[in-house]
Amino acid sequence: MGVELIILDVLIVLSAVALSLVYINHSRGSKAFLCEDCRFNTAELCLKSERPRAIDCTSYRPVLEQNTSVEG
Ligand code: SF4
Repeated sequence: MGVELIILDVLIVLSAVALSLVYINHSRGSKAFLCEDCRFNTAELCLKSERPRAIDCTSYRPVLEQNTSVEG
């Protein structure tokens, strides 16, 4: 009975670690802080107290890709 509980505990911990890694890899932002690649990361555009070290922000928007192609 005790061994089964230990195995179950280990499986639960491993599952939690795996889910955490999946979340980290698929969470928004590619840097440690969302602000680092947020298009609003200037004092003029963002007045939030979390800036520049927000790790969760509903206003986060990634920096837009620069379109370097010339249409003609
Ligand atoms: S909107 Fe949020 S993520 Fe973007 S700069 Fe402001 S605090 Fe940071």
